[in-house]
Amino acid sequence: MRKYKKILFLTGAGISAESGISTFRSENGLWNNHRVEDVATIEAYYKNQDYVHDFYNNMRPDLWNSKPNDAHLAITKLQQNYDGEVYIVTQNIDTLHEKAKNKNIYHIHGQINQIVCMNCGNIYETWGDVTSESICCNCNLMGTLKPNIVFFGEYPLYMDKIENLLRICDLFISVGTSGVVYPAAGFVQTAKYYGVDTIEINLEPTSNNLYFDKHIVGKAGVELPRLVEALLKNND
Ligand code: NAD
Repeated sequence: MRKYKKILFLTGAGISAESGISTFRSENGLWNNHRVEDVATIEAYYKNQDYVHDFYNNMRPDLWNSKPNDAHLAITKLQQNYDGEVYIVTQNIDTLHEKAKNKNIYHIHGQINQIVCMNCGNIYETWGDVTSESICCNCNLMGTLKPNIVFFGEYPLYMDKIENLLRICDLFISVGTSGVVYPAAGFVQTAKYYGVDTIEINLEPTSNNLYFDKHIVGKAGVELPRLVEALLKNND
């Protein structure tokens, strides 16, 4: 493996699977036994705020208690020892990269522990429950708070920054993402357009097959530590 100056990880629900957090879609399109359309679209939020709040209120304790696994910790090791820059773009709303003390993290789909006010835009952190009767501590309006999670129908965060990272990195590593949710699913194609080397770690090759130079088939918690060791061997 050659020496890289700037490494960009794209992580998805699969990197957190070995921490006991279920991935997004099962074959019948359900997320934790809910229809995606009912809990992860902006229309659902405006139609039935309390149903949507309940879903994320129920999810918060599990994500609060979850622990990073060997895949997250491998990125920590790389960031602490690699003579180069390492960035993480994650689609995950859990905070396992932060718990693993990873740095340079961009949550393009938001975070479970943040709330945004749809009236004034104020963002604040909480692991507690939110309802349609909660009041924004900034503008004092009731019923304007939403989990700071990018729903289908909303724009992902940090897109300018990520476009730049895709241009300047020289290695792109996708870990545990199915490659069906855009725009993240298109990042590998952009990276390839800029001539970046690309690697995928997944339990199975994904539909983005064409754009990856290398597929590593296996569990993130096993394969990512191996890949990190290979990168660290070429550190000098
Ligand atoms: P996805 O559920 O669509 O796909 C998960 C992928 O991970 C699959 O391709 C699967 O084969 C692979 N995978 C499963 N276990 C793995 C393991 N141990 N090692 C390696 N690969 C493994 O997830 P996605 O592509 O991230 O897209 C879905 C959306 O779901 C994202 O927008 C995200 O916000 C949301 N989501 C987040 C979380 C979380 O924060 N942990 C959990 C579920 C869903």
